[in-house]
Amino acid sequence: MRGVAVLGSTGSIGCSTLAVLRRHPDRFRLIALTGGANGARLAEQTREWEPRYSALAADDGGGASCLIEAACRPDVDIVVNAVVGFAGLEATLAALRAGKRVALANKESLVAAGELVERARVEGGGQLVPVDSEHSAILQCLTERPSPVSRIILTASGGPFREWPADRVAAATVTQALNHPTWRMGAKITVDSATLANKALEVIEGHFLFGVPYQSIEVVVHPQSVVHGFVEFEDGSVLAQLGFPSMELPILYALTYPERLPDGGVRRFDPVVAGPLTFEPVRVDVFRAFALGVAAGRAGGTAPAVFNAANEVAVARFLEGRLPFGRIAEVIDAVLGRHRIEPVRDLEAVKAADRWARAAAEKEAG
Ligand code: NAD
Ligand code: MG
Repeated sequence: MRGVAVLGSTGSIGCSTLAVLRRHPDRFRLIALTGGANGARLAEQTREWEPRYSALAADDGGGASCLIEAACRPDVDIVVNAVVGFAGLEATLAALRAGKRVALANKESLVAAGELVERARVEGGGQLVPVDSEHSAILQCLTERPSPVSRIILTASGGPFREWPADRVAAATVTQALNHPTWRMGAKITVDSATLANKALEVIEGHFLFGVPYQSIEVVVHPQSVVHGFVEFEDGSVLAQLGFPSMELPILYALTYPERLPDGGVRRFDPVVAGPLTFEPVRVDVFRAFALGVAAGRAGGTAPAVFNAANEVAVARFLEGRLPFGRIAEVIDAVLGRHRIEPVRDLEAVKAADRWARAAAEKEAG
């Protein structure tokens, strides 16, 4: 019986996590829940699960303190970090330092502070297991295969604007951007999937999770979202992980890794129903946020934290109807262009870069 804390339980990944836990009451006990601002849903979840701890971050003066409190409880073994954005970072660090397994959906943690997350993991003896479907795929291809990896390939759905001409993409509306072809997710990651900033975040996430150099991480557009990732080994052999798009499978694997648990709740794969699987290159000239993010990852230091913060601000503005879709990448580009990259020494350095980038992005967005 393992104790689980779900941070961001009221969101898309949070609710999918509870759906998985509901099917495995003999293996996991839900200990702690936190929500951001959706008090009604958190109250409903608290009534159903009767956890020992439940808190709303909006009611918490210290910001991240309820996340840290939930994550570091002695009766918690696994922390599912399903918070969106930079707000999830300190809980990731605290949980790893406390020796917990972090089932990480909050990719922004790793992007903003990959070195610090790794340090916390080593010092605290915690475990970092990805929830992101692409990285779960890579992990599943690698587990129990110690042979060196020569390349990893992440798939991208291409988002709702995959085939649109550049001028139409630049003028896309919020409704259009939120209409993702294959996944139902929170608003921020759905917009990130439409700009392909999400795939840049995932390249950086993959770099830190698997220790693979940037030149060995590739992205391919795969509109069906059936193949989640590929790993190439030194001899040229390639393994892939497949499944109909559902986050419940990678969530379950992050909870049970390296074991597998029988689960009747996941839709069984059928290659005939899946139909033809197609692959195409990323249109880097149209989806500029992708190339900007990968370049920030390669530049290292505080650059990925700045990319992440500028993107968070630009996406929030877009969702409020205060920034055209085409300006998201322009804001990120301008902010990165003005940033002087520093090494990531400690949390304060990352927080300072994040604060600076947010202010710069607000100014740039006008
Ligand atoms: P969401 O917006 O649906 O849910 C986010 C959760 O975080 C909510 O519970 C919200 O209340 C909480 N939250 C928001 N701001 C907070 C703050 N400042 N402090 C504390 N809590 C806060 O988002 P989501 O789609 O579930 O995504 C969560 C994370 O998982 C993101 O990092 C996303 O990139 C990643 N992810 C999501 C999916 C998916 O299918 N939804 C897939 C892969 C990765
Ligand atoms: Mg993903």
